[in-house]
Amino acid sequence: MLIKKDQDVIRGYFEDSSNLKGGHADSVAFPEDITALSEFVKEANQNKLPITISGGGTGTTGSRIPFGGIVVSLEKFNKIIEISEGGFRAIVQAGVLVEDFKNECERKGLFYACYPTEKTAFLGGTVATNASGSRSFKYGSTRIYVERLKMVLASGEIYEIKRGQNLLTKKYSTIRLDSGQEIKIPLPAYKMPKVKNSAGYFARTGMDAIDLFIGQEGTLSIIVEMELGLTKKPPKIFSSFVFFKEYSDSWNFAAEARTLSKDKNKADGIDALSIEYFDENALKLLRQKNSAVPKDASAAIFFEQEAAGADEERSVDSWLKLISKHNAFLDNTWVAMTEKMRETFTQFRHAIPESINEIVKRNGFRKISTDIAVPESKFLDMMRCYAGALKRAGIEHAVFGHIGECHVHVNLLPRDEKELKISEEICLKFVKKAVALGGTVSAEHGIGKTRREYLEEMYGHEGILEMARIKKALDPNCVLGLDNIFPKEALGLV
Ligand SMILES: Cc1cc2nc3c(=O)[nH]c(=O)nc-3n(C[C@H](O)[C@H](O)[C@H](O)COP(=O)(O)OP(=O)(O)OC[C@H]3O[C@@H](n4cnc5c(N)ncnc54)[C@H](O)[C@@H]3O)c2cc1C
Repeated sequence: MLIKKDQDVIRGYFEDSSNLKGGHADSVAFPEDITALSEFVKEANQNKLPITISGGGTGTTGSRIPFGGIVVSLEKFNKIIEISEGGFRAIVQAGVLVEDFKNECERKGLFYACYPTEKTAFLGGTVATNASGSRSFKYGSTRIYVERLKMVLASGEIYEIKRGQNLLTKKYSTIRLDSGQEIKIPLPAYKMPKVKNSAGYFARTGMDAIDLFIGQEGTLSIIVEMELGLTKKPPKIFSSFVFFKEYSDSWNFAAEARTLSKDKNKADGIDALSIEYFDENALKLLRQKNSAVPKDASAAIFFEQEAAGADEERSVDSWLKLISKHNAFLDNTWVAMTEKMRETFTQFRHAIPESINEIVKRNGFRKISTDIAVPESKFLDMMRCYAGALKRAGIEHAVFGHIGECHVHVNLLPRDEKELKISEEICLKFVKKAVALGGTVSAEHGIGKTRREYLEEMYGHEGILEMARIKKALDPNCVLGLDNIFPKEALGLV
């Protein structure tokens, strides 16, 4: 197996898009097959050598950044093994790029509906973080598309699990390995919020055991192969950028579009795949890429919808009525009806997080952003809290994201230590508010190393200890993904 030790060569593995500094490791291993990986992990476990698993390195929470030990990169597990057109299933290795998978599915008339938006992420990374994207408004997050996982556990043992095969119905339910060993999983008592959620381990009485390994951030196993559910590619999708003079109009527009999309009868023909928000500062970043963004706009909504035949006209009509009702710039609304234009809009939307990450890097501090989602009834309360605190602080920021799911990312962009401290305090204030409103501290990016304090706000210290017990049941020597999700203290390591 290829193992690289030259620090100049492996330095890139000590970074992700969190801009968290100080990562270090002795070496990076590049296994090419599951047997070699299994042997390697077995030996590391015997020597109690920490292993950080590396996917595409696009994570935002420092979770693939090692603080000691070795890195295992999945980049050589890059095969799309099978795409079954009739079965609406794909078997893929963990190192396949999201973009390659999407293109290959679409070439066959199929669709990976949840589509995490960052093209250079690995599919294994998206399962390990339970990623989602703008379209999770209609299609849901990664979790519901995962049918089977093949993994290497901390012991080196290979473990394969199918959805529906093992339900954890009791406080101590069992996972049975091929070797005959039984692992008792102590199910936690904490209750997950009823919103889109990727904070800590999925846990619920009666849950499918496969769900424990989705969103585990490389702390329970190394995912090697996955079977993912697909759907038929929609014949056509149209998308639109709608601009507003008053940000409050954009919030009301999004709220009504959300309600209409959820209406089972679809009486108005409105059925969004995604409803995305951009505040004034996010628009400033967009304007640098495209000067056509209206100068007097203080907010925008991007939406997408599947279009089909006669319904298309009715849907477009209803959207136009909604745009007009909420005082948007009707004459300056951008609509993409062709595949090419739609792709341009999608890239344009994606340019915002990319621009923010560039600023974070330039400023030299770690990424300070929220990944909060709250229940729909509390969302405006949360948005008002963001707006008030950001105005008072006067620190450069940009707010954008999945308003359809009551989940926007507040990005603070501190330029010095003083602003950094204030930004951290503001984020913690947002987290406390979200928890009080019944929300989550991470709806899609996970906890990693930068949001552990937030997870404790959500589940309390006992909740963290409950997660640590699950970890120790599967990884008694605590070698996998050390420092992710909970601190070493929770594992009794210091
Ligand atoms: C511009 C930009 C936009 C983004 N937009 C979104 C978005 O819309 N939605 C969203 O959810 N995220 C988004 N992200 C975040 C990121 O793309 C996701 O978190 C993604 O799932 C990370 O995948 P990765 O392969 O890069 O993982 P990495 O960053 O390499 O790792 C992430 C975590 O997964 C673990 N891991 C990786 N591979 C495996 C494996 N095979 N087995 C076990 N554990 C593993 C790592 O140890 C680590 O804990 C965005 C990022 C960027 C830079």
